Amino acid sequence: MNGIKGFLIDLDGVLYIGDQPVAGAQAAIKTLMRSDYTFRFVSNTTRKCRKTIASRLSAMGFEIPEEYIFTPPLAAVAHIKKTGKRRCYLLTTGDVDQDFEQVCVCDSGAKQDFVIVGDAGDMITYDSLNTAFRYLMEGAELIALEKDRYWMAHDGLSLSAGPFVQALEFASGKTAIIMGKPSTAFFDLALNDMGLPPGQVAMIGDDITTDIGGAYHAGMRSVLVRTGKFRQDAVRIATVKPTHIIDSIAHLEDIL
Ligand SMILES: [Mg+2]
Repeated sequence: MNGIKGFLIDLDGVLYIGDQPVAGAQAAIKTLMRSDYTFRFVSNTTRKCRKTIASRLSAMGFEIPEEYIFTPPLAAVAHIKKTGKRRCYLLTTGDVDQDFEQVCVCDSGAKQDFVIVGDAGDMITYDSLNTAFRYLMEGAELIALEKDRYWMAHDGLSLSAGPFVQALEFASGKTAIIMGKPSTAFFDLALNDMGLPPGQVAMIGDDITTDIGGAYHAGMRSVLVRTGKFRQDAVRIATVKPTHIIDSIAHLEDIL
């Protein structure tokens, strides 16, 4: 790819699906490590803290430094630090609360500064959504760690945070600040870390909207992989098309 010096790489659906690495993905990352390209990982994963993501990748055979991984919780923490406010109601699951612990007070107090919604799986109930809604009506700001529609779980397509963020927006009349892809501010965190302008970077992902559309609006080129949540139909109706489509990240070398 002409003029490309670096890659932003999505994790879920690109390097692995569920707990299974995509065939040839480890070798593709090794090749990149040895090349002159720089790269970082930008994931909308909101169920795991950075440390856990790195150790999980390592267990699947990917040797990726923890500092190379950028997630919406890290972007949210950066945002919250700037506001000087601290009280958060987390509508999340897994151990992602560990990323928030250094800066946030996460309790069930009467008032909160932020309602933070991630892909919360079974933590989404009428009660938890209603609690979030009440905090919003009492003045809390709504932060969406991502607003994806769905993702590919091991047992099939599954609702992501987006549908629930939209429900809270609808009920409260507030608009969420979106931390993950396709937020340009989120891509910028990783781009600044690489020291490259968006024009010299391509985003590799399996989501036509957040990865490919997001990359376009941030000024990057894009590579769509036919793994994970890839659906031909979604590509056909998308307004933003990827620069390249490859069968999987294992075929990245073909377009370098
Ligand atoms: Mg993905």
